Amino acid sequence: MAHDESNRWLGDKPQGNLLDDVVRRVPVLAERQLPPYQRLLHAIWTDERLSAVCTTRRNTDHIRENTDAARRFEPLEEAAIHQLRDATLAHGSRLCADCDGRCSIAAGTQADLGTLTRFLTDHEHHGDRSEARRLYAELPPEARDWSGADLEAARSACPNRLDFARLLPQVERHLA
Ligand code: SF4
Repeated sequence: MAHDESNRWLGDKPQGNLLDDVVRRVPVLAERQLPPYQRLLHAIWTDERLSAVCTTRRNTDHIRENTDAARRFEPLEEAAIHQLRDATLAHGSRLCADCDGRCSIAAGTQADLGTLTRFLTDHEHHGDRSEARRLYAELPPEARDWSGADLEAARSACPNRLDFARLLPQVERHLA
């Protein structure tokens, strides 16, 4: 999970700001007076379906924030988890959860739609801009070419219902 308090995470500008909405819709997280991503750690640690979380920490301050969150951890009520889920879904997912690539099969394309959207997330929300561009450039041309793809079929096939028609033009704008 990238560290950034500039509200860039999953929030998508055309749909408002996710972290602002989380503060509004899940007040218990804000009441804990933790930075945004450490609030989310409390939610993740509460959910017994998750056995581990990997976070990207770029300096010792980031590590201190995580250890502080761990020291102050108290499980959230189930209602708060549901509020967080609803706030997140309301913004529309853009992160490929990396399944079996059924989106590309459904779309009838050689383009690697999941990888393209993942690189976009890295670029826009994880602060890995140059790395995302580098990896995009390394893809074979057919993996980048989504022309002619049935993007609505891809969306229907994706467990996260990624809106490829909206996201793929952004891939080209930011990574090409
Ligand atoms: S169907 Fe969705 S989750 Fe699966 S690879 Fe494609 S974008 Fe990723």
